[in-house]
Amino acid sequence: MHMKKLLLILFLCITGCASAEKQSEPKLLLVSFDGFRYDYLSKTDTPNFDKLVKSGVISDGLIPVFPSKTFPNYYAIATGLYPENNGFIGNNMFDSEMGLFFSMGDREQVENPEWYGGEPIWNTVEKNGKKAGTMFWVGSEAPIQDMRPTFWKRYDGRVPNKERIDTVLHWMTLESDNEIDFGTLYFSFVDSQGHRHGTESQEVIEAIQEADELIGYLLEQMKKKNLLDNTNLMIVSDHGMADVSRERLIVLDDYIDPKDIEIISSSPVIMMNAKPGKLDEVYSALKAGEEHYRVYKKENLPERFRLKNHTRTPALIMIADLGYTINTADFISERENYPSGGTHGFDNQEKEMHALFLASGPAFKEGLRVEEIESIELYELMAYLLGIEPASTDGNLENSLNMLKERL
Ligand code: AMP
Ligand code: ZN
Ligand code: ZN
Repeated sequence: MHMKKLLLILFLCITGCASAEKQSEPKLLLVSFDGFRYDYLSKTDTPNFDKLVKSGVISDGLIPVFPSKTFPNYYAIATGLYPENNGFIGNNMFDSEMGLFFSMGDREQVENPEWYGGEPIWNTVEKNGKKAGTMFWVGSEAPIQDMRPTFWKRYDGRVPNKERIDTVLHWMTLESDNEIDFGTLYFSFVDSQGHRHGTESQEVIEAIQEADELIGYLLEQMKKKNLLDNTNLMIVSDHGMADVSRERLIVLDDYIDPKDIEIISSSPVIMMNAKPGKLDEVYSALKAGEEHYRVYKKENLPERFRLKNHTRTPALIMIADLGYTINTADFISERENYPSGGTHGFDNQEKEMHALFLASGPAFKEGLRVEEIESIELYELMAYLLGIEPASTDGNLENSLNMLKERL
């Protein structure tokens, strides 16, 4: 039998067959800071993160899925599936069967379950008779598989950060049938400052410090509510950040007529379709000029991107080299300061795109640094920590067991 299954059965027997109290199993709190690059903790003093590094496990980095954008990555963490297997191939998508475009500002589509394939962890939690509460996580606003977490909130970036923490900790200590075993928290400000000011800015340093203060507040409140000893805490991010500059521009008009294409998602990964009869001409012209970017027909995309086996992936994909920006001459000439600051979306093998993974709690070893892990591994780890039967995913529990204390 597969080692993972054997371990799970053993674990379920120890906990389940002995009819252990539901409350005796540790809870799990998954916290994410959007755009928190793997190395941000070394940029400034972070006393509260440091406490967790000392008491828990830190990874050299969390490898995002490609494209290293927000929605595909949150949903890959939630499902343990690569984009081609859960359908979330970009922040912007077109589905020809549905006849619909997706963008993250389009509420109706964000909440349309048709976009979301696979089984998110909160559904697995609920299917196993446990309770989940999401104070923002991509996907948790849509009734995927006709289900929802016991508690969930529609995304509202204006909700103060401490209020988010208070809400989730309240759900975790309800002392009623609805008390949650699994909670999520999400904060966007580190990503926003990286975009606006670039990774070397004072603003990013201040955002890291603000994140550290929030971790301090979270730990203090968890202590007050007696949650520290019976909660595993995982702090992650969706992707990193890299600086862009007007000196590193790729102008589409230098190679093709922009009227010959329809752009579905924008720089640094242009996902596009060619107008009827134009595909080969557009591809050949872009291929001939290939410098500071790579261009692929969908069927020739490298396997490692895990993107080509989905109908939503369009015919042509152009990927800027790290730090480069691709756009049309019109777009660029209308914006004097474009591009500036930072962005993400680049090749997920680029170190700058790698994210944070830090975990602490009763299940995790103390003071351990581990190699990089892929974000699609986290679903299996979370299911294991919660003692629930995972859905089938692209991850493998064996890749994260080295972080955990011996169970017996
Ligand atoms: P990106 O543009 O890829 O950097 O995405 C980051 C932005 O995603 C954040 O600034 C949030 O405003 C937005 N965001 C995060 N979660 C959600 C959500 N559930 N619904 C809509 N927008 C979201
Ligand atoms: Zn993001
Ligand atoms: Zn971003």
